[in-house]
Amino acid sequence: MERLLGKCVYEGIVIGETYLDIDTNLQNEKENIPFEDIDKEILRLEIGIQRAISDLRGLKIDLKGKVDEKELEIIEAHTLLLEDPMYIADIKKMIRKEQKKSEYAVKDVTEKFVRLFENIDSPIYKQRGLDIKDVCNRLIETLKSENEDYKVFDEKILITKEIYPTELLKLHREGINLKGIIMEYGGETSHLAILAKALKIPTLMGVNDVFNHNWKERIILDTTEENMCVITDPTEEQIAEYDKKRKKFLRKLDLIKRGAHLPSITKDGIDIKLYLNLGDGEQDKENEISRELVEGVGLLRTELIYMKNQNFPTEEQQIEKYAQILNGFSKEQPIIIRTLDIGADKQLSYFKVTEEANPFLGLRGIRFCLKYREIFETQLRAILRLSEERNIKIMYPMITTLNEMREANKILEKVKEDLRKENIKFNENIEVGIMVEVPSVIMMAEAFAKEVDFFSVGSNDLTQYILATDRLSETVGELYSSYNPAVLRAIYHIKKAADKYGKKISVCGEMAGDLKGLVALLSLGIKDLSMVESSILAAKSLVRNLNYKELEEIRERILTEETPEGVKELLKNYINY
Ligand code: PEP
Ligand code: MG
Repeated sequence: MERLLGKCVYEGIVIGETYLDIDTNLQNEKENIPFEDIDKEILRLEIGIQRAISDLRGLKIDLKGKVDEKELEIIEAHTLLLEDPMYIADIKKMIRKEQKKSEYAVKDVTEKFVRLFENIDSPIYKQRGLDIKDVCNRLIETLKSENEDYKVFDEKILITKEIYPTELLKLHREGINLKGIIMEYGGETSHLAILAKALKIPTLMGVNDVFNHNWKERIILDTTEENMCVITDPTEEQIAEYDKKRKKFLRKLDLIKRGAHLPSITKDGIDIKLYLNLGDGEQDKENEISRELVEGVGLLRTELIYMKNQNFPTEEQQIEKYAQILNGFSKEQPIIIRTLDIGADKQLSYFKVTEEANPFLGLRGIRFCLKYREIFETQLRAILRLSEERNIKIMYPMITTLNEMREANKILEKVKEDLRKENIKFNENIEVGIMVEVPSVIMMAEAFAKEVDFFSVGSNDLTQYILATDRLSETVGELYSSYNPAVLRAIYHIKKAADKYGKKISVCGEMAGDLKGLVALLSLGIKDLSMVESSILAAKSLVRNLNYKELEEIRERILTEETPEGVKELLKNYINY
């Protein structure tokens, strides 16, 4: 029997058939095509090129007026590359001479061009190399998307090195039901993990050398907290045993579900406010709990709407989409809308920014919005217009300096002024807060506290930046832990600054929905917690079994612990109620 361990993202026990996603496309690309199919393949390439060009032209029209001319010139340059006779002729030559598929030929020819440019010691040529790579990826994506058959994934446990959030969303949109995911890639707080959780897919991450195991057709995946494993070649006895476990697990879930309507109040009467983290709406399968059973929305990740679109959503499209996502919430329930948090692992297929060596330290979050002001302004207009009817608050992501926050507020004031001139109503007193994700905000906590209406701690990024550990990393992933005392002390520091200036503070990173994390945050005095829908019921059930006074007493012990293991051990005792 082979039992592999990993990190759990969404708890569940699944017995099912596997689908090994060994990048088959890439394998097939290398195979030769029959001689008689060469003309057909050339035609396929030409159609692909035309489609990629027309996508780019559509994008350019859409972006006109939203970004500056320089950006539009990049799109134009990409279009010209796709029409470059030398580039295209070389690709065709390779298809004819070596009988290769278009994808392979595009990749091979592109690499040659890129090497050529990289050897020239000039930034202009280096940029040209990047442009060619970008165009190549776009063309390959276009070629591949012509005949994808998603059905092969349906009702299967997917075994893969990595799957991108956009691919997972695509499968979901096609109505494909993945029973489970096992992957090599290990970022538990990556956007992929957050999405898998929202889609309620039992997922095991960080499984070593994933294709190098004896995968049988039917396997057992157990992502419950205590096991976090997969059995690659189960016996009939094990299948029977796990089937029993699965039923027991479902009964426990059912019990928790039945407490959905009960308030989230601790045994000693302290009201803990639980909010939802929402994405683009479609991923939140059927609403597990009705909206009046939560306090409101603590984080609306608007970038997911942008990521799923083919172009930047217009003001009207955004209003429509937000209203759709917020369907079921009352007008009084607080809704925090986070402005576009794009960059790093959240990219737009239709708007490529310059590749950076360290994208997590580069153009992301508010930095992107301050650079592309018109995109930001469109979103602010949409949010403000919505605030006329609902209890909306605005939140900026990835704030690093006071200047950035002030600059964003200036733009907000300008947008408000525009709306006033147009006689469009909005909430003049709309609250504006920031995400606490960058250590500089912790160091400058009081200065920020004076100017914000509220803080929301993004523990996913805060952990990554405090510990200098990429939240997606497989190599140093072990270092990444929100239970590291450094992270907890930082959160406590900002909490004290918020208290001092009478400002609200909540946590919307993944640790708020993790039972141990929830206990830690409550003990630090944070009583507003925002999490994905699939975590709410278990959190509610836990809160109802806790004694707040006791938690306050462990605060000191948590803050003086020296290792994440020590903190975890301490917290474990409180969740085994
Ligand atoms: C965070 O960083 O904790 C957060 C909530 O933002 P995101 O996960 O979307 O980066
Ligand atoms: Mg973040």
